[in-house]
Amino acid sequence: MKSYSDIIVVGGGIIGLSIATELASSGIAVTLIEQGMFGGEASVAAAGMLAPLKEFTKPGPLLDMGIRSLQLYDNWVSELREATGIDCQLSTAGILTVAMTEMEEDWLQERYQWQKTEGYEIRLLSTREVHEREPHLSKKIRQAIYSPHEADINNCLLLEALVIQAEKRNVHLLQNTAVIGLKQTGHKITGVVTNKGEMVANHVIVASGAWAADILGQVGVDVPVYPVRGQIAAVGSSNLPLSHVVFGKNGYLVPKQDGRIIVGATEDLAGFERSTTVYGVSTVLKGAMSIVPAISQAPFLQAWAGLRPATADGHPILGPVPDWTGLTVACGHYRNGILLAPLTAKWIVEYVRSGETKHMSAFLPERFSLVSYD
Ligand SMILES: Cc1cc2nc3c(=O)[nH]c(=O)nc-3n(C[C@H](O)[C@H](O)[C@H](O)COP(=O)(O)OP(=O)(O)OC[C@H]3O[C@@H](n4cnc5c(N)ncnc54)[C@H](O)[C@@H]3O)c2cc1C
Repeated sequence: MKSYSDIIVVGGGIIGLSIATELASSGIAVTLIEQGMFGGEASVAAAGMLAPLKEFTKPGPLLDMGIRSLQLYDNWVSELREATGIDCQLSTAGILTVAMTEMEEDWLQERYQWQKTEGYEIRLLSTREVHEREPHLSKKIRQAIYSPHEADINNCLLLEALVIQAEKRNVHLLQNTAVIGLKQTGHKITGVVTNKGEMVANHVIVASGAWAADILGQVGVDVPVYPVRGQIAAVGSSNLPLSHVVFGKNGYLVPKQDGRIIVGATEDLAGFERSTTVYGVSTVLKGAMSIVPAISQAPFLQAWAGLRPATADGHPILGPVPDWTGLTVACGHYRNGILLAPLTAKWIVEYVRSGETKHMSAFLPERFSLVSYD
């Protein structure tokens, strides 16, 4: 196998798929290489929440990125539905962040104050108001923040739609193909070496999630990305109508339009191991039962795990790798890659087309010293 593309994207999760489809829409010849199945790692494992205010604990570039990316979702999923016929089940019922102890109440109040000061449209609900909205929630809930504009999506359908859109836009899609090295002339990247042969390109974008350090390490670039396992489960929602995503200190519940409630999730360090453990799954289920006690009687459907790509400072790593030509990275989206995918793709394509990095200046790889040992 020896072929040429303008750009090779390595890693077919939500980030690689979003970048590849966006690049192809600009008329760029793209190859997307995935070592397993498209979307088959962290991206399929996710709960699908699109919730920057729930996730980010202070104002700053990451929260701004999350808010802007969420704003792109409506159009993004409409375009995908038009192009592929797949409805990704974007739900905009909003999110309840609940407090069940005095300490959690303090934490909730603090969060409410800064988010209000920043001008976000949120409401603080009393116990009565919470139970009017969600009668199945624990009587121990003391208060909640209701955030009406946060959302969730069926990430499995989103991934399916992206693969179809990539095909329609003539992205050269290679599954079950592992990139095992980068081709270089001096500090210029000229392609990749895969387990099936070599491929030539002017530019390689590494979007390989928790594995990004492996590939970049091949050319002596040390990106601080590592896997954080998330164990997560699904239960049946038949006897348990929930209309909002509910998030608490002990876990979260995400009702889906397909009759499941996703309950999550652990954050444990287990290297690249993504099996579930008895301890992990029982912790997740106990957390969900503490928020919605009636879930103890719901049918248990499935548990699984995925590897979140975490970084040394908790922010994604986006943009050109310093001292290299034709080498870009887009990884480290940790707990929020589904949320951040559409804006990541826009920024990376903007960089490829114009060399512009101003929008992602807070996320550039150069904020780390990427020890180069060649
Ligand atoms: C339990 C759990 C719940 C989550 N919930 C949410 C949520 O509610 N909302 C949200 O926004 N985010 C959530 N996330 C986070 C989100 O899933 C990740 O941030 C996102 O999927 C990262 O996408 P990615 O494309 O970078 O990584 P991945 O999806 O892991 O994709 C990287 C791909 O690169 C491939 N690859 C690696 N090395 C190579 C190689 N050498 N050659 C070819 N291919 C390679 C891998 O096989 C993989 O498919 C959750 C994650 C977990 C685990």
